Amino acid sequence: MLRRALLAASASTRLRGIVTTAPVARDVVARFVAGETAADALAAAGRLLDAGLLVSIDYLGEDTVEPQHAAAVTAEYVRLLGQLSAARMCQGGAAEISVKPTAVGLGLAEHGEKTARENIARICAAARDAGTTVTVDMEDHTRVDPTLRIVQQLRPEFPGLGCVIQSYLRRSPADCRALAAAGVRVRLCKGAYSAPAGVAFGSRAEVDRCYARCLRVLLTGPAYPMIATHDPRLIAIAGAAAAAAGRHPASFEYQMLYGIRPAEQLRLARAGSRVRVYLPYGSDWYGYLVRRLAERPANLAFFLRSLASRG
Ligand SMILES: Cc1cc2nc3c(=O)[nH]c(=O)nc-3n(C[C@H](O)[C@H](O)[C@H](O)COP(=O)(O)OP(=O)(O)OC[C@H]3O[C@@H](n4cnc5c(N)ncnc54)[C@H](O)[C@@H]3O)c2cc1C
Repeated sequence: MLRRALLAASASTRLRGIVTTAPVARDVVARFVAGETAADALAAAGRLLDAGLLVSIDYLGEDTVEPQHAAAVTAEYVRLLGQLSAARMCQGGAAEISVKPTAVGLGLAEHGEKTARENIARICAAARDAGTTVTVDMEDHTRVDPTLRIVQQLRPEFPGLGCVIQSYLRRSPADCRALAAAGVRVRLCKGAYSAPAGVAFGSRAEVDRCYARCLRVLLTGPAYPMIATHDPRLIAIAGAAAAAAGRHPASFEYQMLYGIRPAEQLRLARAGSRVRVYLPYGSDWYGYLVRRLAERPANLAFFLRSLASRG
C-alpha cells in the first residue's frame, strides 16, 4: 500500500516541486546519486573502479515530452562516453552506460519509438567508439514491447547492446528464454514499477520465485546474465545456480545500485565475481529517489529522519 502510494508520488508534479526544492533532500540524494554533473559521475566512477568494481552510468531523467530534450539527453550521453574514453575508464567494458528509453524519446506524442531507437543508436555508436556497451533500462510495463523491439532492431549493428527483464512481470520467463537463446546481455531485476494484477505478480514470494526461474534460464543459455539485486537470498541462489551450470566467474556479473549494500558489493568482488554498480548522476533525480524510497522502508525512514533533524 505504502509502496503503491510512493510510486504514485513519483509521478506527481506538485510533490516533485516540494521535494526537489527542500534543501535537506540534497543530503539524502547524495547517498544514492553521484552528483549533478558528468564530472561528479566520473569522480565517483573512478573511486568505484579503483576499488575493483565495474560501473554502469545513468544520466538521470525520464518521461521526456520534447524532442529537443530527448536530443539533449542523447548529446549528454555522447559527451559522457567521450570523457569516459579519454579517462580510459571503458577498457574491457569497465564503465558502461544505462539509458532509459523515455529519457531519449520513447514517450513522445509523435514518433516516440522511432526517436528513441535513433537516439539509442547514436549512444550505441559513441559507446562502440569508446570501447564499451549500453544497457537499455526497462520502465513500466507499457514500455516493455517497444523497448525489446528497439533492442532487437539495434542488436545486429550493436551486438553488445543489453536490456533488462523484470521478474515482477508474468511474461518475463518467456522473454528470458527468447533473449537467452539469442545470447543477449540481460540484466535481471525484480522491477521498480507497479502494474495491474493481470500482468504482474502480487506477492514478493511470487516475484522472487519468478526471479529464480529467469535466473536459471539465463544461466543455462548463451546469454550474459547481469544479476541485479541486493537480496541476499537471490544472490546465494544465483551463485549456486552459476556453479551448477559450470559458469566461469567472467561469464556473468552481479549488479547493485550506488549507495546500496556497498560492503556486499566489495565482498562479492573480492571473492572473484564481476560486480557492477549502477551509478546515476544529474539533477533530475526525483523519480529515481522515490522508487528507492518505495523499495525499502529503511530508506524512507532515513529520508524522514533527515527531514526531522533539520526541523
Ligand atoms: C543494477 C540495477 C539496475 C536496475 N535497473 C532497473 C530497471 O532497468 N528497471 C526496473 O524496473 N528496476 C531496475 N532496478 C531496480 C530493481 O527492479 C529493484 O526495484 C531493486 O533492485 C530492489 O529490489 P532487490 O532485488 O534489491 O530486492 P528487495 O526486494 O528490494 O530487497 C530484498 C532484500 O535485499 C536486501 N536489501 C535491499 N535493499 C537493501 C539496503 N538498502 N540495505 C541493506 N539490504 C538491502 C534486504 O535483505 C531485503 O530484504 C535495478 C536494480 C539494480 C540493482
